[in-house]
Formats: sequence, structure tokens, C-alpha cells
Amino acid sequence: MPRYEYRCRTCDNTFELSRPMAESSAPAACPDGHENSVKLLSTVSVGGTATAPAPRSGGGGGGGGCCGGGCCS
Ligand SMILES: [Zn+2]
Repeated sequence: MPRYEYRCRTCDNTFELSRPMAESSAPAACPDGHENSVKLLSTVSVGGTATAPAPRSGGGGGGGGCCGGGCCS
């Protein structure tokens, strides 16, 4: 089932819903119950996509490991 993204105009929250395509433009209530939401341009993931996923910014942090926890000393 395609997934659509909505934004609540009341609390400015964005949320996703999986719903049939026929209901994609139906009103969607945000997790807080507001019904004043708009459908965003959805990135429906069916089949291949033309846009390549952004490369991950590798490295950074991590920590953990054996010597981080003081188990080596
Ligand atoms: Zn809301």
C-alpha cells in the first residue's frame, strides 16, 4: 500500500499514512487528532526511483567498542 505524507495545519506536524491510492486525497487526521491537514508531495515508493539516495555521511561518533567502556583496563 502506498504511503503518503501529510502535514497538519493545526500543529504543523508531519506524519505518514499508508492508505489506498483512492483515498490519498481524503482528509487525514494527524496523530493529535487534528483533521486540518494537507497532503504533501509524496515520495511513493513503488518500483525504482530516479533519485539516488543521499550518500550516508560516514564515520562520526560511534563510540562503543570494548575500550570505550573501560573493559580493557
Ligand atoms: Zn495536528
